[in-house]
Amino acid sequence: MKCPICKHGNTLPGTATVTLERGGSTIVFRQVPGEICENCGESFHSAEITSALLRQAETAVTQGVEIDVRKFAVAA
Ligand SMILES: [Zn+2]
Repeated sequence: MKCPICKHGNTLPGTATVTLERGGSTIVFRQVPGEICENCGESFHSAEITSALLRQAETAVTQGVEIDVRKFAVAA
């Protein structure tokens, strides 16, 4: 698809690193599948992936994690 951020590049299937901050917690997810803009590098993820990310981030917050870097896994 055409990138809605830079309105110039096209997105291609790939993986990206996504950083989420919730309260005092920072969770970095690596190798998150999605569409990556070949021009600006912005990544776009499906609703399913996004909700899985948010769910895992909420879990980390409730566990009192301050910073965590993890490989993304859909099964949460
Ligand atoms: Zn772009």
